[in-house]
Amino acid sequence: MLVHKRIAKLLVLFLVFTSVSWAATSATLEQLSDSVYLYRDICNVYIIEREGHTLAIDFGSGDVLDALKKKGWKAPDWVLHTHHHRDQCQGDYLLAGTETRIAVPEKERHFFEKAKTFWRDKKIFHNYLFKPDPFTSAYNIPVERGLAVGDELEWRGLTIKAITARGHTMDQLAYALSIDGKRIVFSGDVIYGPGKLWNYHCLQYRYNDCGQIGRSAQKVSRDAIMAESPDLLAPSHGVLMNHPAKALDEMLTNLSAVISILRSERIPPVKVDRLPHLTRVKAISHSYLIESDDGYVFLVDAGNTNPMKTVDENPNQKKIEGIWPTHYHGDHMQGINETVEKHGSKVYCHEILKEVLENPSDFNIPCLVRKPIQPDRVLGDGETFNWRGIEMRSYFFPGQTHFHAGLLATIDGKRVFFTGDSFDSPEHGHNYNCRNYIQLEPTGGILRCISVLEETKPDYLATGHWGIWEFTPENAAAMRRWAEGLRPRFERLIAWDDPNFGMDENWVSLFPYYSEVKQGESVKLQMRVRNHGATTSKMVVRLSSQSDLSIRKSKKSWTIKAKKDGSKDFRVRVPKDTPPGRYIVVGDITRNSTRLGQLCEAIVDVK
Ligand SMILES: [Zn+2]
Ligand SMILES: [Zn+2]
Repeated sequence: MLVHKRIAKLLVLFLVFTSVSWAATSATLEQLSDSVYLYRDICNVYIIEREGHTLAIDFGSGDVLDALKKKGWKAPDWVLHTHHHRDQCQGDYLLAGTETRIAVPEKERHFFEKAKTFWRDKKIFHNYLFKPDPFTSAYNIPVERGLAVGDELEWRGLTIKAITARGHTMDQLAYALSIDGKRIVFSGDVIYGPGKLWNYHCLQYRYNDCGQIGRSAQKVSRDAIMAESPDLLAPSHGVLMNHPAKALDEMLTNLSAVISILRSERIPPVKVDRLPHLTRVKAISHSYLIESDDGYVFLVDAGNTNPMKTVDENPNQKKIEGIWPTHYHGDHMQGINETVEKHGSKVYCHEILKEVLENPSDFNIPCLVRKPIQPDRVLGDGETFNWRGIEMRSYFFPGQTHFHAGLLATIDGKRVFFTGDSFDSPEHGHNYNCRNYIQLEPTGGILRCISVLEETKPDYLATGHWGIWEFTPENAAAMRRWAEGLRPRFERLIAWDDPNFGMDENWVSLFPYYSEVKQGESVKLQMRVRNHGATTSKMVVRLSSQSDLSIRKSKKSWTIKAKKDGSKDFRVRVPKDTPPGRYIVVGDITRNSTRLGQLCEAIVDVK
């Protein structure tokens, strides 16, 4: 009975979604053995057939239903999901009105059954945890059975065993099955192919863990898979693997190589405490007070109001006249608004920061603060300004996040470069948190920062958390050696044509990420794409929603040149009778004829 009630709920979604369903693909069922088939969709969908009945491992867009129909088969008896990501289950609504039962990892069950609760509680600000991923269903999916590690599902004389495959998600399962003379493990996204991962960012669990938590989980999953003595690994993305142990061990080696370079030993830096006109103040991160001869102060970063209090308590200092935020992270700017209010300070910023300071909730990135900051003066890259006789120069300095700036100033005859969080030692860059977005490109990311330092030759680096260091050409050379080691390691690990795709979770994104709209009004959503590829990409994007929000011209296509960004605008209208609440709009992405599924979303709160 329960099943039928649940299917009835899905039927409602089916009716909403039919108007936006994707054109049927031309993919067919590839027969892997007598009873096992592969359907290449937004993920690999595996079909097991028994006397005209089928069972599916993951379901992708649901287009596999057409292929089953062509064979004269009905919808599967069961769909087993390896994990909760949208590319495994975005088509589950198509199972409405069928007899299909859905089984999922018990520990991820709530991401299916209570997806809407996940979205209701989704944190936009002060977010330092990367799990669970927002790559979660946009609608509730009824679940018939939750499977724990070790559980067995019996189906038409076959026994399918659930084994741990955690790492890519917190509680992913793999499914082991003996069939047609082989032991197959359907391994979800533990591995893409020999030595390779579909992405690296999913292994980062929280700020600065560099994938270490994910790596430990991957090792546990590797051992659990190998305990089944599989002849074949069938991954959710990627290629079939006939030598599972070799493929998995190579992947772990490549992953360890990435983590070890990100966590290289730190060389103890030579620290300089202060200069006559430069003082360091602890304000969650480190702030810097640059003092003019006549007692005015220019402030770099303000994680809280300590710098303001320091100036207030110093009879020789008058007020903070200007503020330079190096980047948008809360620990560098939560004290800015209050300082502006009390001291009437002017905020100067690099142009790369303007948008995220003014509209933080437009972005789906960590460590955002709720209250926007209004810059008074926005500087271009390399632009200079003069503050009370001190010349300062603004730089795009994307070492820790893409939205990050550096500032060069000559203080007491020394060239001081304010680096923010781009370096945590004079020998290498700060940890890579993928969700901050940092490129592996000579013109972006840490290599760009190193080029800036090579060109500007500062005497000192004033860093965001690690004090002031002397800086030499030898340091710059060591930094470059370190940074040039990054890309080859990521290339060995990540399966995409360019490793940036497997590190940049937001290479496709919807702006604004969060918006509030009144009934009867509309919002413009911009699809932004960063083509990390070395060739032109043809993009096809289709926006949809699980609700009656209406989207004009919901499908758009265009090309984006190699290594360039591109965007398209969409208009989402909220009908007058839309009940107030939270709605999720998803963008279904096809790049160069490979459909990837609903990779990005935007949150729309109807008021
Ligand atoms: Zn996944
Ligand atoms: Zn930071």
